[in-house]
Amino acid sequence: MTKTSELIWHNGEMIPYEQATTHVLSHALHYGSSVFEGIRAYDTPNGPAIFRLTDHIQRLYDSAKIYRMEIPFTPEQIIQACKDAVRENGFKDAYIRPFAFLGNVGLGLNPKSHLADVTVAAMQWGAYLGDDSLAEGVDVCISSWNRLAPNTMPTAAKAGGNYLSSQLISGEAKRNGYVEGIALDVNGCLSEGAGENLFVIKKGVLYTPPTTACILPGLTRDTIMELARARGYEVREESIAREALYLADEFFMTGTAAEVVPVRSVDQIQVGDGKRGPITEELQKAYFDLVKGQANDNNGWLEYVNQA
Ligand code: PMP
Repeated sequence: MTKTSELIWHNGEMIPYEQATTHVLSHALHYGSSVFEGIRAYDTPNGPAIFRLTDHIQRLYDSAKIYRMEIPFTPEQIIQACKDAVRENGFKDAYIRPFAFLGNVGLGLNPKSHLADVTVAAMQWGAYLGDDSLAEGVDVCISSWNRLAPNTMPTAAKAGGNYLSSQLISGEAKRNGYVEGIALDVNGCLSEGAGENLFVIKKGVLYTPPTTACILPGLTRDTIMELARARGYEVREESIAREALYLADEFFMTGTAAEVVPVRSVDQIQVGDGKRGPITEELQKAYFDLVKGQANDNNGWLEYVNQA
């Protein structure tokens, strides 16, 4: 269930939800010219903290840079807006959506102005792939849709237009009774889920597709790689064949919204024992302990809403 906020930060001001609207001729509505982030705030013993907020905002600016979009605020202002959106709505935990888009710049494909409108909305959003997904695992399929090829649209940019691909992948999967779809890359190797990165575990080693496999380089993926290595696991970023999923000991997906989700079957073939595996459980616990402020935050990844 999503509970949206009463107040939304829009172009520098906190305004009521109902007033945060845009024109039907906004460029982004027609051509997908927007960049955005999905970030989570968690309730910690020291108050609400936004996990890897600075890194997410850096990725927002990186996405904008790729499309030559100008964000007329500093990263520090957007960071503060994210904290304000959580605090002023009284949320203890939240999903935060910073969003920069080409609005009233005309409908030419290459408008004279690349100045973006910017919005930060916070909302409450539970387990993205279902309440039981984190403990029970999910059933997924390989999509008939491939991920974007590298010379079509850059997948390192978290851009609105890319999510037409994600909608095809996840919509097809859901219509066929699966929780999520997984796309192959242009070479037929594993790429990513509609909104998640992939980790395959075989004989105690973790494998994840490299950035050249047309993925969004996820911050949860990065966090899990660090947590796994700190626990002595070998983590390899390398090309993975589709059948490696069927033969994996364990398989899980990561994303800010999805968090760390075990996969129990792929294409109706059971993965491992068909339930959350021990390494997945260990890393999932390490992740939740970290984001909820119950473990040492050695990297300063928890950014507290009540601190400037
Ligand atoms: N891939 C895609 C296509 C996504 O939309 C997401 C969610 N942002 C991810 C991977 C995971 O990225 P992150 O861990 O940074 O949320």
